[in-house]
Amino acid sequence: MDLIFTKEDLAKYPFSKDARKYVKELKFDYKDFKTRYGEEVLERAYLRINAAIERRVIPPIFDEDLDVEILSFPTALLLVGNIGDSLLSTRYAIAESKRASLFLRNESSEKILYLASNTFGWKIIFRKNGKFQGYTFRLFFRDYLSHIPEHSPAWKLSNRILENGEVLLIRHDVVRLLEEAVKIYILNRLSKKMKVDDFSVFLPWIEKIRNSWSKYKVKIEKWKTLDYGEEAYPPCIINLLNATKAGKNIPHVGRFALAAFLLNIGKTVDEVLDIFRSSPDFSENIARYQIEHIAGLRGSRIRYSPFKCENMKSYGLCRDDGKSCKNIKHPLQYYYRKGIAKKRKNVEKKRIS
Ligand code: SF4
Repeated sequence: MDLIFTKEDLAKYPFSKDARKYVKELKFDYKDFKTRYGEEVLERAYLRINAAIERRVIPPIFDEDLDVEILSFPTALLLVGNIGDSLLSTRYAIAESKRASLFLRNESSEKILYLASNTFGWKIIFRKNGKFQGYTFRLFFRDYLSHIPEHSPAWKLSNRILENGEVLLIRHDVVRLLEEAVKIYILNRLSKKMKVDDFSVFLPWIEKIRNSWSKYKVKIEKWKTLDYGEEAYPPCIINLLNATKAGKNIPHVGRFALAAFLLNIGKTVDEVLDIFRSSPDFSENIARYQIEHIAGLRGSRIRYSPFKCENMKSYGLCRDDGKSCKNIKHPLQYYYRKGIAKKRKNVEKKRIS
Protein backbone atom coordinates (compact mmCIF):
# COMPACT_ATOMS: atom_id res chain seq x y z
CA MET A 1 0.00 0.00 0.00
CA ASP A 2 1.37 3.43 -0.98
CA LEU A 3 1.15 5.20 2.29
CA ILE A 4 4.03 6.58 4.25
CA PHE A 5 3.78 7.38 7.92
CA THR A 6 4.90 10.88 8.83
CA LYS A 7 7.14 11.38 11.83
CA GLU A 8 4.10 12.49 13.79
CA ASP A 9 2.38 9.20 12.88
CA LEU A 10 5.39 7.30 14.19
CA ALA A 11 5.04 9.19 17.47
CA LYS A 12 1.33 8.43 17.59
CA TYR A 13 1.85 4.75 16.80
CA PRO A 14 5.32 3.91 18.17
CA PHE A 15 4.47 0.17 18.14
CA SER A 16 3.96 0.23 14.36
CA LYS A 17 6.24 -1.59 11.96
CA ASP A 18 7.28 1.76 10.48
CA ALA A 19 8.22 3.15 13.91
CA ARG A 20 10.26 0.05 14.72
CA LYS A 21 12.14 0.44 11.45
CA TYR A 22 12.71 4.12 12.16
CA VAL A 23 14.09 3.37 15.65
CA LYS A 24 16.54 0.89 14.12
CA GLU A 25 17.71 3.53 11.67
CA LEU A 26 18.29 6.03 14.48
CA LYS A 27 20.93 3.62 15.83
CA PHE A 28 20.28 4.83 19.34
CA ASP A 29 22.63 2.79 21.47
CA TYR A 30 22.57 1.92 25.17
CA LYS A 31 25.58 4.21 25.60
CA ASP A 32 23.38 7.07 24.36
CA PHE A 33 21.16 6.73 27.41
CA LYS A 34 24.06 8.12 29.44
CA THR A 35 23.92 11.44 27.56
CA ARG A 36 21.62 14.40 28.30
CA TYR A 37 19.53 13.37 25.31
CA GLY A 38 19.22 9.83 26.59
CA GLU A 39 18.07 11.17 29.92
CA GLU A 40 15.27 13.03 28.12
CA VAL A 41 14.18 9.76 26.50
CA LEU A 42 14.22 8.01 29.89
CA GLU A 43 12.27 10.86 31.47
CA ARG A 44 9.55 10.65 28.81
CA ALA A 45 9.47 6.82 29.11
CA TYR A 46 9.00 7.23 32.85
CA LEU A 47 6.15 9.73 32.29
CA ARG A 48 4.42 7.23 29.98
CA ILE A 49 4.60 4.50 32.59
CA ASN A 50 3.67 6.73 35.50
CA ALA A 51 0.60 8.04 33.66
CA ALA A 52 -0.47 4.43 33.07
CA ILE A 53 -0.04 3.70 36.78
CA GLU A 54 -1.73 6.82 38.11
CA ARG A 55 -4.35 7.62 35.49
CA ARG A 56 -4.62 4.45 33.36
CA VAL A 57 -4.31 6.54 30.20
CA ILE A 58 -1.18 7.89 28.59
CA PRO A 59 -1.84 11.45 27.49
CA PRO A 60 -1.20 12.06 23.82
CA ILE A 61 1.25 14.87 24.54
CA PHE A 62 4.17 14.83 22.24
CA ASP A 63 7.56 15.75 23.45
CA GLU A 64 8.70 18.71 21.37
CA ASP A 65 11.34 16.46 19.94
CA LEU A 66 9.45 13.69 18.14
CA ASP A 67 12.48 11.41 18.22
CA VAL A 68 12.37 11.54 22.02
CA GLU A 69 8.70 10.65 21.87
CA ILE A 70 9.27 7.71 19.51
CA LEU A 71 12.28 6.38 21.41
CA SER A 72 10.49 6.64 24.72
CA PHE A 73 8.14 3.80 23.76
CA PRO A 74 10.71 0.97 23.36
CA THR A 75 12.49 2.42 26.40
CA ALA A 76 9.30 2.16 28.43
CA LEU A 77 8.90 -1.45 27.27
CA LEU A 78 12.40 -2.18 28.44
CA LEU A 79 11.73 -0.66 31.87
CA VAL A 80 8.33 -2.29 32.42
CA GLY A 81 9.53 -5.64 31.02
CA ASN A 82 12.44 -5.63 33.43
CA ILE A 83 10.19 -5.15 36.43
CA GLY A 84 8.38 -8.32 35.35
CA ASP A 85 5.12 -7.66 37.19
CA SER A 86 2.21 -9.03 35.14
CA LEU A 87 -0.29 -6.62 36.71
CA LEU A 88 1.87 -3.62 35.80
CA SER A 89 2.48 -5.03 32.31
CA THR A 90 -1.27 -5.35 31.73
CA ARG A 91 -1.94 -1.87 33.08
CA TYR A 92 0.73 -0.37 30.85
CA ALA A 93 -0.39 -2.31 27.75
CA ILE A 94 -4.01 -1.22 28.23
CA ALA A 95 -3.01 2.42 28.74
CA GLU A 96 -0.89 2.43 25.56
CA SER A 97 -3.67 0.74 23.59
CA LYS A 98 -6.16 3.38 24.77
CA ARG A 99 -3.78 6.14 23.70
CA ALA A 100 -3.49 4.59 20.23
CA SER A 101 -7.25 4.22 20.06
CA LEU A 102 -7.77 7.92 20.82
CA PHE A 103 -5.63 8.81 17.82
CA LEU A 104 -7.17 6.18 15.56
CA ARG A 105 -10.67 7.51 16.15
CA ASN A 106 -9.71 10.67 14.25
CA GLU A 107 -7.58 8.95 11.65
CA SER A 108 -8.37 8.51 7.98
CA SER A 109 -9.72 5.10 6.96
CA GLU A 110 -6.67 4.66 4.71
CA LYS A 111 -4.33 5.00 7.67
CA ILE A 112 -6.41 2.64 9.80
CA LEU A 113 -6.27 0.05 7.05
CA TYR A 114 -2.54 0.59 6.55
CA LEU A 115 -1.78 0.10 10.25
CA ALA A 116 -3.93 -3.03 10.45
CA SER A 117 -2.39 -4.70 7.43
CA ASN A 118 1.17 -3.45 7.62
CA THR A 119 1.80 -3.73 11.36
CA PHE A 120 -0.49 -6.56 12.38
CA GLY A 121 -0.62 -8.42 9.08
CA TRP A 122 -4.42 -8.49 8.99
CA LYS A 123 -6.16 -9.49 5.80
CA ILE A 124 -8.32 -6.40 5.60
CA ILE A 125 -9.65 -4.50 2.61
CA PHE A 126 -12.06 -1.68 1.84
CA ARG A 127 -15.55 -2.69 0.93
CA LYS A 128 -16.62 -0.61 -2.04
CA ASN A 129 -20.32 -1.32 -2.31
CA GLY A 130 -22.92 -3.91 -1.49
CA LYS A 131 -26.20 -4.25 0.21
CA PHE A 132 -25.10 -3.38 3.76
CA GLN A 133 -24.53 0.36 4.02
CA GLY A 134 -21.92 1.78 6.38
CA TYR A 135 -19.70 -1.31 6.50
CA THR A 136 -16.50 0.12 5.09
CA PHE A 137 -14.14 -2.75 5.89
CA ARG A 138 -13.91 -6.49 5.28
CA LEU A 139 -11.68 -8.44 7.66
CA PHE A 140 -10.66 -12.10 7.37
CA PHE A 141 -12.63 -13.95 10.05
CA ARG A 142 -9.53 -15.44 11.77
CA ASP A 143 -8.02 -11.97 12.30
CA TYR A 144 -11.39 -10.87 13.63
CA LEU A 145 -11.70 -13.80 16.03
CA SER A 146 -8.23 -13.38 17.50
CA HIS A 147 -8.85 -9.73 18.38
CA ILE A 148 -12.36 -9.72 19.79
CA PRO A 149 -12.16 -7.32 22.76
CA GLU A 150 -14.82 -8.90 24.94
CA HIS A 151 -17.07 -11.91 25.18
CA SER A 152 -20.36 -10.32 24.36
CA PRO A 153 -23.17 -10.99 21.91
CA ALA A 154 -22.20 -7.95 19.85
CA TRP A 155 -18.82 -9.48 19.01
CA LYS A 156 -19.99 -13.05 18.44
CA LEU A 157 -19.22 -14.17 14.92
CA SER A 158 -22.73 -15.57 14.59
CA ASN A 159 -24.09 -12.03 15.10
CA ARG A 160 -21.90 -10.55 12.38
CA ILE A 161 -22.36 -10.25 8.66
CA LEU A 162 -20.00 -12.52 6.75
CA GLU A 163 -19.10 -12.35 3.07
CA ASN A 164 -16.82 -15.09 1.72
CA GLY A 165 -15.09 -15.68 5.04
CA GLU A 166 -14.71 -11.97 5.74
CA VAL A 167 -16.49 -10.05 8.46
CA LEU A 168 -18.08 -6.74 7.49
CA LEU A 169 -17.06 -3.97 9.86
CA ILE A 170 -17.69 -0.34 10.50
CA ARG A 171 -14.79 2.02 11.30
CA HIS A 172 -15.49 2.03 15.03
CA ASP A 173 -15.25 -1.79 15.17
CA VAL A 174 -11.91 -1.81 13.38
CA VAL A 175 -10.52 0.79 15.80
CA ARG A 176 -11.68 -1.28 18.77
CA LEU A 177 -10.12 -4.45 17.31
CA LEU A 178 -6.89 -2.55 16.68
CA GLU A 179 -6.90 -1.35 20.29
CA GLU A 180 -6.94 -5.01 21.30
CA ALA A 181 -4.16 -5.81 18.82
CA VAL A 182 -1.95 -3.09 20.33
CA LYS A 183 -2.56 -4.46 23.82
CA ILE A 184 -1.71 -8.03 22.76
CA TYR A 185 1.41 -6.85 20.91
CA ILE A 186 2.69 -4.95 23.96
CA LEU A 187 1.97 -7.83 26.33
CA ASN A 188 3.89 -10.15 24.02
CA ARG A 189 6.85 -7.80 23.91
CA LEU A 190 6.80 -7.43 27.69
CA SER A 191 6.78 -11.18 28.22
CA LYS A 192 10.16 -11.47 26.47
CA LYS A 193 13.24 -10.43 28.44
CA MET A 194 15.35 -7.85 26.60
CA LYS A 195 19.08 -8.29 26.85
CA VAL A 196 21.11 -5.23 27.81
CA ASP A 197 24.90 -5.18 28.26
CA ASP A 198 25.01 -2.40 30.80
CA PHE A 199 21.88 -1.93 32.84
CA SER A 200 23.20 0.59 35.38
CA VAL A 201 21.70 3.66 33.66
CA PHE A 202 18.19 2.20 33.94
CA LEU A 203 18.33 1.22 37.60
CA PRO A 204 17.34 4.61 39.15
CA TRP A 205 14.34 4.80 36.79
CA ILE A 206 13.27 1.26 37.59
CA GLU A 207 13.47 2.15 41.27
CA LYS A 208 11.26 5.21 40.67
CA ILE A 209 8.68 3.12 38.79
CA ARG A 210 8.71 0.41 41.47
CA ASN A 211 8.04 3.05 44.14
CA SER A 212 5.20 4.60 42.22
CA TRP A 213 3.71 1.20 41.31
CA SER A 214 3.97 -0.30 44.79
CA LYS A 215 1.59 2.35 46.23
CA TYR A 216 -1.08 1.48 43.65
CA LYS A 217 -0.46 -2.25 43.67
CA VAL A 218 -1.05 -2.49 47.41
CA LYS A 219 -4.39 -0.69 46.96
CA ILE A 220 -5.45 -2.82 43.98
CA GLU A 221 -4.52 -6.11 45.62
CA LYS A 222 -6.15 -5.21 48.91
CA TRP A 223 -9.29 -4.18 47.05
CA LYS A 224 -9.30 -7.33 44.93
CA THR A 225 -8.79 -9.79 47.75
CA LEU A 226 -11.24 -8.38 50.28
CA ASP A 227 -13.63 -11.26 50.88
CA TYR A 228 -17.15 -9.99 51.55
CA GLY A 229 -18.67 -13.46 51.41
CA GLU A 230 -21.50 -14.87 49.35
CA GLU A 231 -24.00 -12.44 50.87
CA ALA A 232 -22.41 -9.77 48.67
CA TYR A 233 -22.73 -11.80 45.45
CA PRO A 234 -25.23 -10.35 42.96
CA PRO A 235 -28.40 -12.33 42.14
CA CYS A 236 -27.05 -13.46 38.75
CA ILE A 237 -23.95 -15.01 40.32
CA ILE A 238 -25.91 -16.59 43.20
CA ASN A 239 -28.18 -18.18 40.61
CA LEU A 240 -25.23 -19.58 38.62
CA LEU A 241 -23.48 -20.73 41.77
CA ASN A 242 -26.52 -22.55 43.11
CA ALA A 243 -27.22 -24.18 39.75
CA THR A 244 -23.59 -25.35 39.50
CA LYS A 245 -23.54 -26.71 43.05
CA ALA A 246 -26.83 -28.52 42.38
CA GLY A 247 -25.18 -30.29 39.43
CA LYS A 248 -27.33 -28.56 36.82
CA ASN A 249 -25.96 -28.13 33.34
CA ILE A 250 -25.33 -24.42 32.85
CA PRO A 251 -24.44 -22.93 29.44
CA HIS A 252 -20.85 -22.12 28.53
CA VAL A 253 -21.38 -18.36 28.90
CA GLY A 254 -22.79 -18.94 32.39
CA ARG A 255 -19.73 -20.97 33.40
CA PHE A 256 -17.48 -18.26 32.01
CA ALA A 257 -19.38 -15.51 33.89
CA LEU A 258 -19.22 -17.45 37.16
CA ALA A 259 -15.53 -18.41 36.87
CA ALA A 260 -14.48 -14.90 35.81
CA PHE A 261 -16.43 -13.35 38.68
CA LEU A 262 -14.96 -15.67 41.31
CA LEU A 263 -11.40 -15.25 40.03
CA ASN A 264 -11.78 -11.49 39.98
CA ILE A 265 -12.86 -11.33 43.59
CA GLY A 266 -9.73 -13.21 44.60
CA LYS A 267 -10.68 -16.92 44.54
CA THR A 268 -7.87 -19.23 43.48
CA VAL A 269 -7.99 -21.54 40.46
CA ASP A 270 -8.38 -24.54 42.79
CA GLU A 271 -11.23 -22.93 44.71
CA VAL A 272 -13.08 -22.20 41.46
CA LEU A 273 -12.34 -25.69 40.16
CA ASP A 274 -13.91 -27.20 43.29
CA ILE A 275 -17.15 -25.32 42.64
CA PHE A 276 -17.40 -26.87 39.18
CA ARG A 277 -16.84 -30.43 40.45
CA SER A 278 -20.57 -31.05 40.71
CA SER A 279 -21.15 -30.21 37.01
CA PRO A 280 -22.60 -33.25 35.19
CA ASP A 281 -19.86 -33.25 32.51
CA PHE A 282 -16.97 -32.28 34.83
CA SER A 283 -13.49 -33.14 33.57
CA GLU A 284 -10.69 -31.93 35.84
CA ASN A 285 -8.16 -31.37 33.02
CA ILE A 286 -10.52 -29.47 30.74
CA ALA A 287 -12.03 -27.40 33.56
CA ARG A 288 -8.59 -26.51 34.97
CA TYR A 289 -7.35 -25.49 31.52
CA GLN A 290 -10.38 -23.24 30.99
CA ILE A 291 -10.21 -21.64 34.43
CA GLU A 292 -6.46 -21.00 34.08
CA HIS A 293 -7.16 -19.42 30.71
CA ILE A 294 -9.76 -17.06 32.24
CA ALA A 295 -7.32 -16.28 35.09
CA GLY A 296 -4.72 -15.17 32.52
CA LEU A 297 -2.31 -18.00 33.31
CA ARG A 298 -2.44 -19.41 29.77
CA GLY A 299 -2.61 -18.25 26.17
CA SER A 300 -2.69 -14.47 25.80
CA ARG A 301 -2.00 -14.07 29.58
CA ILE A 302 -4.93 -11.71 29.84
CA ARG A 303 -7.13 -12.07 32.88
CA TYR A 304 -10.74 -11.90 31.77
CA SER A 305 -13.32 -9.74 33.47
CA PRO A 306 -16.84 -11.03 34.05
CA PHE A 307 -19.47 -9.77 31.60
CA LYS A 308 -20.97 -6.38 32.31
CA CYS A 309 -24.70 -6.33 33.17
CA GLU A 310 -25.69 -5.32 29.65
CA ASN A 311 -24.09 -8.51 28.29
CA MET A 312 -25.40 -10.66 31.14
CA LYS A 313 -28.87 -9.48 30.18
CA SER A 314 -28.46 -10.33 26.53
CA TYR A 315 -27.23 -13.82 27.46
CA GLY A 316 -30.28 -14.28 29.69
CA LEU A 317 -28.12 -14.55 32.82
CA CYS A 318 -29.35 -11.46 34.68
CA ARG A 319 -31.58 -12.14 37.69
CA ASP A 320 -32.38 -8.61 38.80
CA ASP A 321 -35.82 -8.37 40.36
CA GLY A 322 -36.03 -4.65 39.63
CA LYS A 323 -34.98 -3.66 43.17
CA SER A 324 -31.65 -5.31 43.96
CA CYS A 325 -29.50 -3.87 41.22
CA LYS A 326 -30.44 -0.20 40.99
CA ASN A 327 -27.73 1.74 39.07
CA ILE A 328 -25.57 -1.37 38.82
CA LYS A 329 -23.68 -1.78 35.59
CA HIS A 330 -21.37 -4.63 36.47
CA PRO A 331 -21.66 -7.65 38.80
CA LEU A 332 -18.34 -6.70 40.42
CA GLN A 333 -19.70 -3.23 41.15
CA TYR A 334 -22.61 -4.91 42.96
CA TYR A 335 -20.23 -7.08 44.98
CA TYR A 336 -17.96 -4.27 46.15
CA ARG A 337 -20.83 -1.89 46.83
CA LYS A 338 -22.68 -4.49 48.88
CA GLY A 339 -19.49 -5.60 50.61
CA ILE A 340 -18.50 -2.09 51.64
CA ALA A 341 -22.03 -1.40 52.92
CA LYS A 342 -21.90 -4.63 54.95
CA LYS A 343 -18.52 -3.67 56.41
CA ARG A 344 -19.81 -0.20 57.39
CA LYS A 345 -22.83 -1.78 59.08
CA ASN A 346 -20.58 -4.05 61.14
CA VAL A 347 -18.38 -1.14 62.21
CA GLU A 348 -21.50 0.83 63.20
CA LYS A 349 -22.85 -2.18 65.17
CA LYS A 350 -19.56 -2.52 67.06
CA ARG A 351 -19.53 1.19 67.83
CA ILE A 352 -23.06 1.08 69.33
CA SER A 353 -22.55 -2.10 71.40
S1 SF4 B 1 -28.24 -6.23 37.06
FE1 SF4 B 1 -26.14 -6.96 36.80
S2 SF4 B 1 -25.47 -7.55 38.82
FE2 SF4 B 1 -27.69 -7.41 38.89
S3 SF4 B 1 -28.40 -9.48 38.50
FE3 SF4 B 1 -28.37 -8.40 36.55
S4 SF4 B 1 -26.37 -8.87 35.70
FE4 SF4 B 1 -26.28 -9.37 37.85
